[in-house]
Amino acid sequence: MNLERDLQDMREYYRSGKTKEASWRKLQLQRLKAFLKEKERDIYRALNQDLGKHHVEAFRDEIGVLQKSINFALQNLKEWMSSKKAKLPAVAVLSYAEIVPEPLGLVLIISSWNFPIGLSLEPLIGAIAAGNTVVLKPSELASASSSLLANALPTYIDSKAIKVIEGGPAVGEHLLQQKWDKIFFTGSTRVGRMVMSAAVKHLTPITLELGGKCPAIIDSLTSSWDKEAAVKRIIVSKYGPCAGQACIAIDYLLVEEKFTSTLVELLKVHIKKMLGENPRKSNSIARIINKHHFSRLKNLLNDPMVKDSIVYGGSVDEANLFIEPTVLVDPPLQAAIMTEEIFGPLLPIITLKRIEDSIDFINSRPKPLVIYAFTKNERLQRRMVSETSSGSIVFNDAVIQFVADTLPFGGIGESGIGSYHGKFSFDAFSHHKPVVRRSYLSEIWFRFPPWNNYKLQL
Ligand code: NAD
Repeated sequence: MNLERDLQDMREYYRSGKTKEASWRKLQLQRLKAFLKEKERDIYRALNQDLGKHHVEAFRDEIGVLQKSINFALQNLKEWMSSKKAKLPAVAVLSYAEIVPEPLGLVLIISSWNFPIGLSLEPLIGAIAAGNTVVLKPSELASASSSLLANALPTYIDSKAIKVIEGGPAVGEHLLQQKWDKIFFTGSTRVGRMVMSAAVKHLTPITLELGGKCPAIIDSLTSSWDKEAAVKRIIVSKYGPCAGQACIAIDYLLVEEKFTSTLVELLKVHIKKMLGENPRKSNSIARIINKHHFSRLKNLLNDPMVKDSIVYGGSVDEANLFIEPTVLVDPPLQAAIMTEEIFGPLLPIITLKRIEDSIDFINSRPKPLVIYAFTKNERLQRRMVSETSSGSIVFNDAVIQFVADTLPFGGIGESGIGSYHGKFSFDAFSHHKPVVRRSYLSEIWFRFPPWNNYKLQL
């Protein structure tokens, strides 16, 4: 394969205007849907091979979400593509303006391994809807999913306009050296910085969907119904999405001291209800992606500073890349488990004197992708919204914001730049071009020199 020649061909194809046609965009989205339907079993197999994901979890988090997103794009494509009339100032009498969305051209999507199908195809939906030609590089770490995309996708969609290129960091770096009209990257903050430096050369616009530590604040809930609902939602948002290997998974909890023991007991009860007495035997929790990440998580647990904080779980099984859902109370804040993104099924609980102290706690750290807060205290909710900064904020649940087509999904500060989903995906891959049409029948005469004070008085 000659990358430079392929990209040249893709640019020429883009210039032919084919990908700008509404019928082409619609057809590609329909073909993407057919890929998900007809290859459903192959996708489940690949996700199970890569991550030990149960097919129900794979449907919930990847195939089902993608089907919904494609349907939403198909329903709204005409409206998104239409130009919008814009008002002009009164002086521009007999002039007309509109905002015309145009595709950016040839775009690069680099994705990560934790939702290897979902996080590859979700931005692709936006790129196609907006009328671009696309190179997609999935993560080499989810190799079964990556090869499924590379081998099967071209048989469904227009392979002159959309190419899947497989490979790891070396291929990624080679791709970043090329000229793109947009780079959409999902991955770590470390590689996100490299993407941003590479984009400088051609002033390429970027979207960076990055990670970080997402805190969840748990107020001392009083009703047993609320407590139970909150704990179940916390468990499914920590151990549920890919065994915690998710950018929007809860990273750690902030709890008032007086509520800690109740919370820990409830967590124990409900973890057992969802994953059984011996979660190692459960197929309802994904496995760690590879040995490198397994060792990274094991080291977080074996840290001598942390060992005494484990109150539940803590066992590991290297042969099966399994890490038991684990709860820790008050590991030292300087320990790696509290300074690095965990990205796995380890849940530290940090106790605070007053729940309001969580605001300072969060504000003294990098801006998170999401803040979750389980509280019915409206004053505290208002303070959280106005006094903290994060990609998004969710009260009394977690992770569900990801599936809303009507909300922009993205980070802020070190958790990312830009956003996507629904119309925001279309916008991420479009330029909104103002088009102004003037008439010759009127004139703004005071815009022309020579200058005199009379012209200022008008
Ligand atoms: P990563 O940064 O290691 O890799 C992401 C992608 O970049 C992969 O395709 C990889 O091959 C490629 N890559 C790696 N090194 C590269 C280089 N030098 N040049 C060019 N490309 C390179 O991240 P990961 O391990 O795949 O994913 C985990 C991270 O991603 C976590 O921090 C997580 O929070 C974040 N994440 C964020 C989102 C989001 O939507 N915000 C979603 C999933 C994951």
